[in-house]
Formats: sequence, C-alpha cells, structure tokens
Amino acid sequence: ENLDKGLEKTKNSFFDKMSKAVAGKSTVDDEVLDDLEDVLVSSDVGVATTIKIINRIEERVARDKYLGTDELNKILREEIAALLSETNTGEASEISIPKNKTPYVIMVVGVNGVGKTTTIGKLAHQFKSAGKKVVLGAADTFRAAAIDQLQIWADRTDVPIIKQKMGSDPASVAFDTVQSAVKMGADIVLIDTAGRLHNKVNLMKELTKVKRVMQKTIPEAPHEVMLVLDGSTGQNAFEQAKQFTAATEVTSLAVTKLDGTAKGGVVIGISDQFQIPVKYIGVGEGIEDLQVFNKYEFVDSFFK
Ligand code: GDP
Repeated sequence: ENLDKGLEKTKNSFFDKMSKAVAGKSTVDDEVLDDLEDVLVSSDVGVATTIKIINRIEERVARDKYLGTDELNKILREEIAALLSETNTGEASEISIPKNKTPYVIMVVGVNGVGKTTTIGKLAHQFKSAGKKVVLGAADTFRAAAIDQLQIWADRTDVPIIKQKMGSDPASVAFDTVQSAVKMGADIVLIDTAGRLHNKVNLMKELTKVKRVMQKTIPEAPHEVMLVLDGSTGQNAFEQAKQFTAATEVTSLAVTKLDGTAKGGVVIGISDQFQIPVKYIGVGEGIEDLQVFNKYEFVDSFFK
C-alpha cells in the first residue's frame, strides 16, 4: 500500500503511456513494439535493458505467432521480473545478518544529496526495531552538515554514533567505529562516507583506505558496500553507478526518491546493467519510507 503510493507517479505515467501504445490495436505488431520501446526508455529503464526486454517479447511473439495487446501487460510483467531475477533472487532482498558475522559492517557510498544519510537513518530504525544493536560511523568528514545530519538521525533513532570533527581522516572515524562496535557487541555498523565525485582517483583511494583500516579489526569488513542512488535523476544515476562501481566493489543498491518521480524504471535498468541487486527503495522522507525491494511487488506496482 505504501509502495503503491510511493510509486504512484511512475505507475500513472507508465499506465497512460502503455494505454496509448496499444490504443486501437488488438495484436502486438512492430508498431506496438516500437511504441513500447519508447515507453520503457522514457520511464528511464535505459536503452540497453529496454532492448533486452523488447527482444524477449519479440521472441515470444515469434514463438506463439500471435500476441494480443490484452496480454501485453502480463507478458511484460513476466519478462521484467525474469530479467530482474538475474540479479535480484527471491522475492525480498533485505540485508540479513549471518549470526557468526557480527558486527556486520555496511559501508554506504553515493554522491552528496542522493539521500545517503536519510537511508542510513531509516536503516538504523529498521534494524533497531528488529531488535538489533546498531552503531553509526560519521566518516563523511568533508562536510560539517553531513556529520550534523547523521547526528540528527542517531538521536531520532536512539543509536550510538561515532564521529570526529569536520576535516578529520574518514579512515580514522571508520576505524574507531568498528572498534567501538566490537566493544559494544553491536550487530550492525553503518558507515557514512563522503561522496565527492569530482576526483575519481581520490574517491577510490579514500574508499580503499576506509576499507583497509576497518579490516584491521574485522578482516571481512565491509561485508556490504551499498550504493545509494537518487532515482529521480534518471541518467545521472546510471552515470554515478558507473563511477562508483569503477572506484570500489559495490554489492548492493538503494534507490531513493521514487515517490517524487515518474521514472521508477531506473531501478530495473540499473540493476540489470550493473548486475547488482537492489535491496531497498526510498519512497519518502519519513523514517518509515524505506522499503525492502521485492521485484514482484515492484513490477506489479507498475501495472495495477
Ligand atoms: P545525502 O547528502 O546523500 O546524505 O542526502 P540526505 O540524506 O541529506 O538527503 C537529501 C534530501 O533528500 C533530504 O531532504 C531528504 O529528506 C531527501 N530524501 C532522501 N530520501 C528520500 C526519499 O526516498 N524520498 C524523498 N521524497 N526524499 C528523500
């Protein structure tokens, strides 16, 4: 229900465009397929992924000789869900913490403004509500506002935060955080990092160093590197995914601000193109507005 509301804009726009694409047509012909291609591209699914989807539908048309437009929604839904299965296995894909791997360290990366801090706060709330002991690390030391924002979320969720003053070494904050987490017997550590993209080499160096110092305490840390992308930025989100995956090994995605955009298709395209599972989607500014990504529900919400 929350998901439907969060994706309302995408759903309405997709539904309208789909209706136009099949208006007055009873069978899926080349023209319908061309129109469908436009619908997917304009929903920010991305060209490469759109072509994959269209090819899958073309194969079905060729195999079955006939496809009624009344069936197109169903087929499209099946093919998109199947495509997402290559990266997003199972229904829901939330972070699950193996018992023998605590504290479980999640390093959160992404460009400033995409909703990184908010997503960390929402995650802290979810984990805490599930009875987990959470610690936050303010390793985005480049902006005072970033540390302040994370502090606000720490207060709001009532979880401890490890921080130093602005301008201090992010790796040092990460080191302290992991050390404290072990001492406190924490289950989960969320490390905020700086997202300055203007210098790729520096970004890579900084993230590598943050990882390395955490490994002094926990050799497998970080257990996850979660990239946060703003879903309303369309092609920019693709570009950021490209840059961050080049700078560090990204293991999961959180796509935010889907409530504010008609271009929710970006979730499908990015997950497919980068072969990285989407674990969470942000559908609002509130503490509860973070959903575990479920590919079936997500795809269904486009069609209802
Ligand atoms: P950061 O710089 O990446 O840490 O970004 P912030 O977490 O500070 O978020 C930037 C702005 O985006 C804030 O105003 C947030 O409230 C807003 N925001 C974050 N996630 C969402 C979301 O899922 N939906 C909406 N509508 N706004 C969001």
